[in-house]
Amino acid sequence: MAEPFLPYGRQTIEDDDIAAVAAALRDDLLTTGPRVEAFEAAFAEAVGAEHAVACANGTAALHLTMLALGVREGDVCVVPSTTFLATANCVRYVGAEVVFADVDPDSGLMRPQDLSRALDQAAPRQVTAVLPVHLRGEVLDLPAIAALADSAGAVVVEDACHALGSRLLQGNAEVPVGSGRWSSASTFSFHPVKTIATGEGGMITTPDAGLAERLRRLRSHGMVRPPGADPWWYEMAEPGFNYRLPDLLCALGHSQLAKLPRFSAARQALAARYLEALTPLAPAVRPAASPEGSVATPHLMCVLIDFAALGRSRRQVMEALKDRGIGSQVHYIPVHTQPYYRARYGELDLPGAQAWYDRTLSLPLYPGMDLADVGRVVAALGEVLGL
Ligand SMILES: *Cc1c(COP(=O)(O)O)cnc(C)c1O
Repeated sequence: MAEPFLPYGRQTIEDDDIAAVAAALRDDLLTTGPRVEAFEAAFAEAVGAEHAVACANGTAALHLTMLALGVREGDVCVVPSTTFLATANCVRYVGAEVVFADVDPDSGLMRPQDLSRALDQAAPRQVTAVLPVHLRGEVLDLPAIAALADSAGAVVVEDACHALGSRLLQGNAEVPVGSGRWSSASTFSFHPVKTIATGEGGMITTPDAGLAERLRRLRSHGMVRPPGADPWWYEMAEPGFNYRLPDLLCALGHSQLAKLPRFSAARQALAARYLEALTPLAPAVRPAASPEGSVATPHLMCVLIDFAALGRSRRQVMEALKDRGIGSQVHYIPVHTQPYYRARYGELDLPGAQAWYDRTLSLPLYPGMDLADVGRVVAALGEVLGL
């Protein structure tokens, strides 16, 4: 019998997740029901945040955060080029301009020196926000990044879509991503390949009660019902969006969140097995680097491959892996090279993002895999590369 296909990532949905959704479907309120606040409260607790605001998806989370912070036309925001499109696009949604930062070619993450250079490039324009991305679930050097942003007069918004369950080591303590220790807000996604899944779904966490209130208002058309007003009455001071996460998806999210410790442990064990199994393929294949102090819940298993030296194109390698029942993907094409951003900002030279892109390949990683699957993936990779 053929072995099952291993995609690069996928959800883990179990019977109790399905039961939680079925129960929500039998209730009266499918959209704004009691499960929204219950999921938000559980999420805030899980990441050590003061406030959590659920929304339609990770992109909406970024857009709402830009709106709620008042980022607008004339403003400039710094975004690392190695990320998903949405991190940069949210800046454009509100009419602000993007300054792309370079990344470490070996980890794919923005370093303090990359941010420094981007801040210099932005000058003399005022930078409003810096959007660090915890690529692969690895936690970047937030204290240093927050200090640089602060001295430039900018706020920090963490794109934590890869990093639910990740922590940063601080002395003897581990500070969860999303706690807001070094940022105004953090955004999460529950897309099926992310650590917990609701199909579409997102969350924003923040230490700021006023920002949380503004996010809630903007998530639902900008409507407010003043206390003591007539029962039909609502007011709108600024137009918002319909970016709500329905009650029935919050039921799924809450059920999935309860499994976060198990999902994190499974991802960590699989990643550790990969590191062992990959050792004989060095130096042609190397696992991506992990920054100091990062205690990751790994989201992606990125390896760096010297395709040119091996005489094989990435496309050939991906197709040969696929023939052996193994999915792979590339995270990410540098966003500054997209036609839209090229047309807007011209040709930029970001050698770290380019070097990362040239070599990276994401191998299967999700809690439904077992440790033997890792051996199968690495054996196939060695065979395909002739190692
Ligand atoms: C998934 C992702 C997003 C967008 O999340 P959606 O829920 O798909 O809208 C944003 N940024 C990063 C880094 C992501 O991985």
